[in-house]
Amino acid sequence: MKLGFIGLGIMGKPMVKNLLKAGHEVIVYDVIQSNVDQAVAEGANPANSSKEVAEQCKLVITMLPNSPHVKSVVMGENGVLDGAQPGTILVDMSSIAPQASQEICKACGEKGIKMIDAPVSGGEPKAVDGTLSIMVGGDEEVFKEVYDILMVMGGSAVHCGDIGAGNTTKLANQIIVALNIAAVSEAFMLSTKAGVNPIKVFDAIKGGLAGSTVMNAKVPMITEGNFEPGFKINLHIKDLNNALETGHNVGAPLPLASQVMEMLQTLKADGLGDKDHSAIAKYYEKVADAEIRK
Ligand code: NAD
Repeated sequence: MKLGFIGLGIMGKPMVKNLLKAGHEVIVYDVIQSNVDQAVAEGANPANSSKEVAEQCKLVITMLPNSPHVKSVVMGENGVLDGAQPGTILVDMSSIAPQASQEICKACGEKGIKMIDAPVSGGEPKAVDGTLSIMVGGDEEVFKEVYDILMVMGGSAVHCGDIGAGNTTKLANQIIVALNIAAVSEAFMLSTKAGVNPIKVFDAIKGGLAGSTVMNAKVPMITEGNFEPGFKINLHIKDLNNALETGHNVGAPLPLASQVMEMLQTLKADGLGDKDHSAIAKYYEKVADAEIRK
């Protein structure tokens, strides 16, 4: 199938590679030319704008940083809606505000374009493996139409509800991940200061009730002092911003998320915005004046 793909960053690039590997023809666009060049080197065909991508493809996938980027790529000048024919399907896999998905879907609908939101969890390693967890909102019939394409990039794809439900699910995911990293950091700082080796603590508790995918992924990074991304603090700030805004809109107070948000803001102010979110441990290291290391 001929597919369009817009947004060739940390996640988009390996996702395109998997679509190519599965035998699809992929037309790509990114504002950063070197990202386009890398996708072309893998076998993709370049376009000069989002409009040009949509002119050539009946299915367009977007993987962009946040709501304003998706709005401009879809609804802006030379955007998807300028080039797409009625009946085209837009699959937005970016993590954005659910309200923004609803607005973009409405604008698409006015032009006869069908849209679903389909953000992902699993990060770069699972984007490379093609085993992302995909959470989808929108018309269930459209979800069924694109299911096989989603499963080229994912290990699972679950329809969660109407348009925006995918991104609401992703916000729930991001709250749990952020709070889990903070809980792990707090607990491991306690053991460090009390003189118990964090590696022993990890080995002793990872198989019990406190164990988690987050603990397994992040404790080795923290104890090695490796905070290279992965998933950047700045992107997690974006997600918690969207979570807090959504929570306030629907009347769901998020006291713990707002507290971790201030930890992330402290780290950003310290120049760590481009480090991995496991650097939440560095917040605790600063306030407790100790390092959680092997
Ligand atoms: P990234 O910043 O690496 O990539 C985004 C890409 O979009 C960049 O190449 C950028 O040039 C491009 N872009 C921005 N504006 C554009 C425009 N107007 N037209 C065309 N291209 C444009 O980000 P990423 O890490 O790939 O993340 C993408 C999305 O996936 C984000 O919403 C992020 O929250 C989400 N996500 C990321 C991870 C992760 O581990 N990195 C995991 C799960 C979900």
